[in-house]
Amino acid sequence: MSITKYDNITRNFFTGFIRLHLLHHAGQEPIFGLDMIRELARHGYQLSPGTLYPILHGLERDGFLVSRKEVVAGKVRKVYTLTEAGQTALSESLEKVRELMDEITIPPQGA
Ligand SMILES: [Zn+2]
Repeated sequence: MSITKYDNITRNFFTGFIRLHLLHHAGQEPIFGLDMIRELARHGYQLSPGTLYPILHGLERDGFLVSRKEVVAGKVRKVYTLTEAGQTALSESLEKVRELMDEITIPPQGA
């Protein structure tokens, strides 16, 4: 698959999954960019910092994540945690994902 085609899929569909993924992990423990790039790679999403960071910033701007700066081994790291609005958005989105999964995976009656 060409890079361009993959980028289009990422922009159109995968960014939603990536956002849910980020919210999920931020609800478990504070997350930071590089760690999430590794985590998402484990799930088959190849993201550059230039793609991931704007997504994190957007989630914070929209009130789903909140960041703070931590110093780790002498380096400043921006860590994100889930807000209450983020928790609500995650729960509601997961319901939609489940609903969609049911729709597209369960064969219609009488099929
Ligand atoms: Zn994960």
